Amino acid sequence: MPRDKTHLVIAIDGPAASGKGTIALRLAERLGYLYVDTGAMYRAVAWQALQENISWEDEESLKHLAERLDIQFVRDDAEGTLRYRVLVNGDDATEFIRSPEVGRGSSIVAQHAAVRHALVAKQRKLAQAGGVVMEGRDITTVVLPDADVKFFITASLSERARRRYEQYRARGVNTDIATIEAELAERDRRDSQRSVAPLRIAEDAIVVDTTDMTVDEAVSTVVNLVRSRAISR
Ligand code: C5P
Repeated sequence: MPRDKTHLVIAIDGPAASGKGTIALRLAERLGYLYVDTGAMYRAVAWQALQENISWEDEESLKHLAERLDIQFVRDDAEGTLRYRVLVNGDDATEFIRSPEVGRGSSIVAQHAAVRHALVAKQRKLAQAGGVVMEGRDITTVVLPDADVKFFITASLSERARRRYEQYRARGVNTDIATIEAELAERDRRDSQRSVAPLRIAEDAIVVDTTDMTVDEAVSTVVNLVRSRAISR
């Protein structure tokens, strides 16, 4: 069945802490679309594996875990700021999946083809009806190559480290910028050099560098680009 073209599929990729999450969430909110954070899905697998004593290297067990895992995104504006909570098998795992340890685990489990296969199937299902903003590392290239609008959101490594540091600090996580910068560089390396679905810029993606932009500026830039694309279609 052809998709209703007033309900676009918007795909967003970019490295960790590039601002793509915030941009995608606010864009979805403006358009009244579903927001899907695929990184949270890889994090949920890594988190649940820890709970079940499954090694992050055990591809076969992780595949079954990914297939049966129920992951839901629930809107939460309790504190007046736009946020969402991640429910894993019905339990609120929002804070747990954001820990540095689970962040490391997520990029390890994401290297297994079988895990990606299971999660990509879930992601495509979520985008089927259109009216969705999906963000991650391989959305524009692998998951939704026929998306109506594609973005690659990026920022310098030092700026991304500074942003992640502020996020951790706000949550009371004790760390320092140098450690975060080294972790981000390592994650960039793993994400762009892995053999399955590496992070890369799709040929038809619009690249937005947010290094010198405020969050509001970055969001308006992307919203305006979507509007102009939608009109020129
Ligand atoms: O975006 P976030 O940092 O939450 O993603 C966590 C990890 O999940 C990334 O480091 C990456 O390895 C993996 N990931 C992926 N493909 C996606 C989204 C995330 O491999 N589409």
